[in-house]
Amino acid sequence: MTTKTRFAPSPTGSLHIGGVRTALYSWLHARHHDGKFVLRIEDTDLKRSTNEATDTILKCMEWLGLDYDEGPYYQTQRTLRYREVIDELISTDNAYYCYCTKEEVNKMRDEAMKRGEKPRYNGFWRDRKESPPSDVDPVVRFKTPLDGQIIIDDLVQGKVVFNNKELDDLIIARADGSATYNLTVVVDDMDMGITDVIRGDDHLNNTPRQINILKSLNVSIPNYAHIPMILDTNGKKLSKRNDDASVLKYHDEGYIAEALLNYLVRLGWSKGDQEVFSIKEMISDFDIKRVNKSSSSLNTKKLRWLNQHYLKNIKTSVAVDFLTNFYEEKNLSLSDGPHLEALIEVQKNRVHTLRELAEKSTFFYNDRYEYDNKVAMKYLIPEIMEPMTILHELLNELDDWQALNIKSIFESTTNQFDIDIGKLAQPVRVAITGTGISPGIDETLYLLGKTKSLARLRRGIDFIITNSAS
Ligand code: GLU
Repeated sequence: MTTKTRFAPSPTGSLHIGGVRTALYSWLHARHHDGKFVLRIEDTDLKRSTNEATDTILKCMEWLGLDYDEGPYYQTQRTLRYREVIDELISTDNAYYCYCTKEEVNKMRDEAMKRGEKPRYNGFWRDRKESPPSDVDPVVRFKTPLDGQIIIDDLVQGKVVFNNKELDDLIIARADGSATYNLTVVVDDMDMGITDVIRGDDHLNNTPRQINILKSLNVSIPNYAHIPMILDTNGKKLSKRNDDASVLKYHDEGYIAEALLNYLVRLGWSKGDQEVFSIKEMISDFDIKRVNKSSSSLNTKKLRWLNQHYLKNIKTSVAVDFLTNFYEEKNLSLSDGPHLEALIEVQKNRVHTLRELAEKSTFFYNDRYEYDNKVAMKYLIPEIMEPMTILHELLNELDDWQALNIKSIFESTTNQFDIDIGKLAQPVRVAITGTGISPGIDETLYLLGKTKSLARLRRGIDFIITNSAS
């Protein structure tokens, strides 16, 4: 049978990094087995679902390259089908209308607790033949078997046993007729032919209920793999509200999709000591059965390290898109600064993220950069005025604006004054960038171009003049 997995997020908040790892594991499992991967948007919670969250999910799947063979399916478009199955369960005596009010059910729960039992609905309308009250809109409850066990051979958790006695008759349709989560998931997994359900272990308790419903529908039961939660850097459960949890954040911070996937695949799964996995290797090596049972904690240091690794071989177009958006948002024009391709070549080995690359390169496109006062006062000093002025003259005469030629001019100027290159390079750096940090000075001037370099050097010289006069 062809392996078929699915990712079934509820669009009720930002897409969570844990959710993406679930998606990745499902995707890898399908790809490893030459199977199919389905995307299903579980948007039946109308109050909490938003179009924005759905758009984010779709965008992130695309960004990460987690392509799906079917979908996106939307549960809100399958209402009639759910109703059909609910009616079928009623007609086969696997489900029944329950007319208890909320107050009555609460009372049953309290009583159960008083008896030292789990709070649960007591099956009051399960086999009742008397005519129902006319003023109550009933819910539909599933008839959970009264005894027996559900044994799950979970691909990650191992054998997990549930006693049916512990489970009550769960609601599968609300009083307004809408289907509940456990019913919609069962119908979808059944109709979509899902063979392997890979999801967060927060759903483990739902699994025996879903299996009972599947059994009553006489369909085969999929394999299950419940993946442990991801913990934050302090070892606490990562909540949707935690900033580190949102995948968009990683996108906006300039992490590369492959680096994030590599990081996530290793968060709870390993193959020897190997840290770096290409997508191809992930697909060939991933084994859901080797996913850890215990939770893993986020380690942003490692992610940064991986990102730096992937940056070295980044597809230029990906970096160009990121930088273009970044500078556009800052209203900086790219037209009179260095070509992005050339800039990326120089900077990509010096940073951990694309955002860092963009930030550290802003000065190239921003002529109105400010001087960092502390470094300016330290380096733009009268002693350096003469070498800087000579350098300016020589650079002005340079026709072939190449890094190598710029370097020779630096060398001849510093030789003339008998000073180390650094003694001149750093003040020049401050003059042309406003800060004490940039790539090699010859490369920086080359990228900046002759006109801008000369104008900015002049600005540095003027700063010295003004400062020494006051
Ligand atoms: N929609 C559920 C969630 O986002 C997942 C359901 C499932 O995978 O079965 O938590």
